[in-house]
Amino acid sequence: MPTVFDTGSRGPRTLKGNGSTAGLYVCGITPYDATHLGHAATYVAFDLLNRVWRDAGVEVVYVQNTTDVDDPLLERANERGLDWRELADDQIDLFRADMEALRVLPPDHYIGAVESIPQVVSAVEELIASGAAYALDNGDVYYRVSTPVQPPFGSVSHDDRATMLRLFAERGGDPETPGKEDPLDALLWRAKRDGEPSWDGASLGRGRPGWHIECAVIAADYVGLPLDVQGGGSDLVFPHHEMGAAHTAAWKRTPLARTYMHTGMVGYQGEKMSKSKGNLVLVSKLRGAGVDPMAIRTVLLSNHYRSDWNFTDELLTTAEARLRAWRHAARCESECREGLRVHIIGLLREALADDLDAPRALGILDEWADHYADTPVRDHGPVSGDRVADAVDALLGIRLLD
Ligand code: ZN
Repeated sequence: MPTVFDTGSRGPRTLKGNGSTAGLYVCGITPYDATHLGHAATYVAFDLLNRVWRDAGVEVVYVQNTTDVDDPLLERANERGLDWRELADDQIDLFRADMEALRVLPPDHYIGAVESIPQVVSAVEELIASGAAYALDNGDVYYRVSTPVQPPFGSVSHDDRATMLRLFAERGGDPETPGKEDPLDALLWRAKRDGEPSWDGASLGRGRPGWHIECAVIAADYVGLPLDVQGGGSDLVFPHHEMGAAHTAAWKRTPLARTYMHTGMVGYQGEKMSKSKGNLVLVSKLRGAGVDPMAIRTVLLSNHYRSDWNFTDELLTTAEARLRAWRHAARCESECREGLRVHIIGLLREALADDLDAPRALGILDEWADHYADTPVRDHGPVSGDRVADAVDALLGIRLLD
């Protein structure tokens, strides 16, 4: 049974084990500028959880949303003179090709914001009816953060109000909007504006969904509540996951998730990777330059999922060298057919069950490969699977033998 670090309780939590069904919801992309290494690190981290869970005999229900209509997407489409739907479709295709190349097991469902609009509308109507939401004169609907909920608002991030206000402004919130009761009240439904796409909102009028309610509704409908794990990058703790948890508690009278897992931020040239800084390292660019996707995956796994780290070309070179050594070892081991090193599979499982310690798992592979460093490969033809190589493939998603 894997034990992971839970942001909500600020400590380790043992997840469900053998024979159970577990619900995993990971916040997906807004389809523009896909897929930089920060995205890839997040989805590879939760892919690791998915693999470890399955290995432990858990049936995983894994859902990821796609925020296929939102301000940043519309802005980017306008800048480039593209139809926002075309941009979204292209970027979704690119993202999925990147994920496949990185051998990320696909979620059971990818659900778009647009296709969930009817369910979002019902949820927002229910929140208004219960007093947890209100409409401004222009038709925009906001969640009332003062709504008493269980667990209380703030129990995911534990941020104080000053920090909440700062992060809300930095991460897509609108503290300054006139007419709101509290600057932290979060947008649930944005009424139709000229030049923006809009959908039928029944009693809400035409408009489009807010981001937090989108995820809460998709999680409730396609996974079921409470989720075992709500996952995403650490920049989603507040406001996104905090608001999602509050919306869910007010709407369904249940916690959104038992465990909240967050991945670290990936930097490049000393700064957080972001489109505004223009320092995105794209998986598709690396692939286009001929980099082995397994080397990219090795770079991602060589950093613990919770740590913040910087991408460098050196990390890639190191990963390529490690991969060569592991591949040599896998070939040697398949030739000797004795399975002498099968005990390392147990060590890999132990490392991964301990808060998905992939760096430790890769270190175990290095030691394994050292045993074969001086062993010549006899036959360079195709080889059948080897038990260690199969385990590395299943647990870590790194393919060593073709
Ligand atoms: Zn989300």
